Order: sequence, then C-alpha cells, then structure tokens
Amino acid sequence: MKVLYPGSFDPVTNGHLDIILRAAKRFEEVVVCVAVNNSKNYLFSMDERIEMLEKVLYDYDNVKVVQHEGLIIDYVEENSIDAILRGIRAISDYESELQFAQMNKFYSKTNVETIFMVAEPEMSYLSSSIVKEIASHKKDVSRLVPDFVAKKIENKYL
Ligand code: ADP
Repeated sequence: MKVLYPGSFDPVTNGHLDIILRAAKRFEEVVVCVAVNNSKNYLFSMDERIEMLEKVLYDYDNVKVVQHEGLIIDYVEENSIDAILRGIRAISDYESELQFAQMNKFYSKTNVETIFMVAEPEMSYLSSSIVKEIASHKKDVSRLVPDFVAKKIENKYL
C-alpha cells in the first residue's frame, strides 16, 4: 500500500518523524507531500522544507518527499496513492482532520480513504507552530526537532 502524508512541515518536527517512521514500517511506500496552503504564512520556503525532510529521511528507502501546489486529492488521483495518512494529537485535531478527510473523499473519484495514526503521548504537545514560537524567544528546541533543523530555526531568529 502506498500512502501520502501531506502537510506543511514548516518545519518538520520529531512528531512528524515519529508518524513517518512508524508508517514506513507498515506500508510499502510513504510519500511525504509538502503542500502549499494559501491561507498560511510560512517561515521556511518550499525548497527549505523539502531539503530538511530529504536530509532527515535520506536513509529510508521506502520514504519519498515530493511537493505539490494544488489540492491534495489531485495528487492522490494522479499518482496512484492508496490512502492519505494523517496524524492526530488530541481531540482538537479531530475536527479539522475530519473535515479534510470528508472533503477529500467527496472530491475523490476513487473514494479515497484517510488513515489516522495517533501521536505518541510525548509528541502530542508538539507542533511546528509551538517550535517556532519557542525558538523566536531564543529558547533551545533541539529536543523537539532534529539537530540541524534546530540550527536552521535559530538562524531565522538571529
Ligand atoms: P498541516 O498544515 O496540514 O496541519 P502539519 O505539517 O502541521 O500540516 O501536519 C501534518 C500532519 O501531521 C497533520 O495530520 C498533523 O495532525 C500531523 N502532526 C503534526 N504534528 C504531529 C505530532 N506531534 N504527532 C503526530 N502527528 C502530528
């Protein structure tokens, strides 16, 4: 089964990595899709977000990183994706994830399914936004993201 894990990854966190690596053990292929969401302002450019993901996922042969500018469902249908994978941290994620899953199904010619994996409890407080917030106050985030990502964020807030 080939699953698509879409997100902003601005930047990738240990929470995203936990989901990706657990999925890589269970599915034949995991396609990590860096998406453009017009309602978001990003700290990192598309190229930077891709580069960080590629670096950290280099050793995993069944994980690939792609970028996509349109609707996720279009990528799914054009690239023979079997299911969309999303992570759920808390009940607060549920509402928006449900909407995303329903809309993808609604617009899918193949009735695409969304598979949810729950965050490990110690990752459930972790989001790209909170990492950026902490780093912007010059606090160390190296326990929340890979080391080289921590350095990149620190440089943004110099
Ligand atoms: P988006 O902008 O689409 O929410 P994100 O990069 O924030 O993209 O997240 C991508 C996916 O990863 C979402 O399904 C999100 O719920 C999930 N996710 C984010 N952080 C974590 C975490 N700490 N543990 C598990 N899943 C997570």
